[in-house]
Amino acid sequence: MTGRLRHYVCGSTTHDVGALFRGGSREVRSFPSGVFLYDGDGDRRVLFDTGYATGEWRTGWRGAVYRRLLPPTVEDADDIARQLRDDGVGPESVTQVVLSHLHPDHIGGVSRFSNATFVLTDGVERTLVDSRLRDGVLPGLLPDWFPQARRRVLGDAEFQPREIAGVSLPAVDLFGDGSYVILALPGHADGHIGALVDGRVLLAGDAAWGSDLLDAAPRLRAIPRAVQFDAEAYADTARTLRAIADAGIRVVCSHDPLGAKELLT
Ligand SMILES: [Zn+2]
Repeated sequence: MTGRLRHYVCGSTTHDVGALFRGGSREVRSFPSGVFLYDGDGDRRVLFDTGYATGEWRTGWRGAVYRRLLPPTVEDADDIARQLRDDGVGPESVTQVVLSHLHPDHIGGVSRFSNATFVLTDGVERTLVDSRLRDGVLPGLLPDWFPQARRRVLGDAEFQPREIAGVSLPAVDLFGDGSYVILALPGHADGHIGALVDGRVLLAGDAAWGSDLLDAAPRLRAIPRAVQFDAEAYADTARTLRAIADAGIRVVCSHDPLGAKELLT
């Protein structure tokens, strides 16, 4: 397998780490919003999440509440389509867009990819149909055509146990060749998923606030705990990812500051 995986930062937010975890140090940290483009064999071009939306958000009072809790910093230059074009990648050439879950910092660029097939889970579909404030989903960020977009919905039954560095996880091999394996990483949101790319880099989405914060996941304070879909599963997923990272697979969370664009070099 000869793939290329590129990282883009599409906006960021700031948060006090001490307010997230018991026993954490008071440290206001910037959390960049990562988007990951995989170029594989043939014309496979898979995007993992789409970052924050640029421009005005038509998301009403829910959006105002969200922006108050997690104020985003987003500039026009953060637009994922614009960044891809600057890199010589036409957004229309993206074949699949994997949505880890539906939070605003992951779906803001969906409108740029009307040509792609969207890969999501039953749980994400459920949330789309019936999202409550607690789910943190802002449907106003999704384009009008999204309900009719091509999509590959991964049903719960499609996920089969797969051994990754000695740890078993429910997985779907997207192309059947191990190059891009979708992983169930439950807890953060209903149907939350990650992806193992080229068997080397595990994109963990929001399974944790950062790959250096995996061990802190069981110590979430009350409010950040309450906004997880399933706090027990969130802690279990973090433990599983810790074991996989310890076994030598690179675990990358969506809000990790990576400082490098190429991730499979
Ligand atoms: Zn999230």
